[in-house]
Amino acid sequence: MKLLRLGDQGSAVAEVRVALTYLGFLPVTPRQSGEQGNVAPPGTRPGESMGTELPPSAATAPASPAAPASPAAPAAADGALGPAAASGGAAVAPPDRFDRDLDNALRAFQQSRGLSVDGILGPDTARALEEARHNLGDRLLYFSAAHPFVGDDVAALQERLFNMGFDVGRTDGIFGLRTESAVRDFQRNRGLDPDGRCGPRTLRELKRLRRTVTGGRPDVLRESVRLLARGTSLLGVVVALDPGHGGDDLGIVSGGLCERDLMADLAARLTTRLLDSGLESHLIHGPDESPSESERAARANELEADLLISLHTDGSTSRHARGVSAYYYGNARGSSAVGERFAQLVQREIVSRTDMLDCRTHPKVWDLLRRTRMPTVRLDLGYLTNDHDARALGSTEFRAAVAEAVLAATQRLFLPPEMDAPTGQLHVPRLAGRA
Ligand SMILES: [Zn+2]
Repeated sequence: MKLLRLGDQGSAVAEVRVALTYLGFLPVTPRQSGEQGNVAPPGTRPGESMGTELPPSAATAPASPAAPASPAAPAAADGALGPAAASGGAAVAPPDRFDRDLDNALRAFQQSRGLSVDGILGPDTARALEEARHNLGDRLLYFSAAHPFVGDDVAALQERLFNMGFDVGRTDGIFGLRTESAVRDFQRNRGLDPDGRCGPRTLRELKRLRRTVTGGRPDVLRESVRLLARGTSLLGVVVALDPGHGGDDLGIVSGGLCERDLMADLAARLTTRLLDSGLESHLIHGPDESPSESERAARANELEADLLISLHTDGSTSRHARGVSAYYYGNARGSSAVGERFAQLVQREIVSRTDMLDCRTHPKVWDLLRRTRMPTVRLDLGYLTNDHDARALGSTEFRAAVAEAVLAATQRLFLPPEMDAPTGQLHVPRLAGRA
């Protein structure tokens, strides 16, 4: 295909403009006279929709309520026309000219998709644009071996199922056998005909649940997730532990301390503490090896672990960088609800029990987080290159406190809100008969 970039002109450019407008990366302009006088929908600020001229086809683009929630311009796709905007008329480039606005919009789109941000419409970006045009609900989705459905609607379906605890494998936007079986599980769970096809009834049920699940109500969240169907007991919960390094892979080395060894020690402490409290705990690799992230994820999946915790320290060229962070699976389009909650709980427990700086929790799409089917949290437990953090990490008291914090967070993940304990105060008792 011919690459399109700033300065190009033609009908292909106009099509890109329509697509980016539909996706909310370019503002919708006022319609021509005769259609003026529309009342702005609630929540629309006058003037918000001012921008470049649109070809007629864009003005009639479907204003789906399920339009992708683009962070770039959430209000633009619904054709909102404030009274103030109607008088504008806006100075405007021809719609088939690849101008600066289009360049910016394309770059914003590329960034939102994790593509190289070069402002050029090449094969990858074109494919992503094509996939992005499908909103969940636009078409019936089912498994087809010959022509698998690919697109944002499939990714949205997978993410919703994943967030509710169904096993979709990877949220890769491809409707494969795993996705089909997750749809069946969901349908069975909701009393629908388990035909594995995502049609109107299944969609309606997904949307109904989604409102509650993504609303952040922990009680609904708790109920909606398989993991939490276990009740409040930790007995038999399987926690997989991933010491970040091993073998020749030392991780960060600074001031006589070595990430590999510190995290191996922490993993051993944590294992003991988890076993003592009635949980199952497994190391997903031995001290002499350092598998790839996807291999680590595969092993945790094979264990059918309920949680995976990956243990790292950080390092920086700046001696001032310090603090603790926690990472969970997610991106701008959505995240693992339980993973996020678990990350927040662990982060808060660690910060409250130690004097480490709070560098907060962050969504990431790293392989370890993405390819695991259970909620997964990666902890970066301070900077070995910082004097304060290195002193903490070098002390057994600190590592014991972190083990205690992880255990408390694990318990809190299973507690209903009314039984939840204030941060830093929960002590999980050892089982009788164990040291
Ligand atoms: Zn590391």
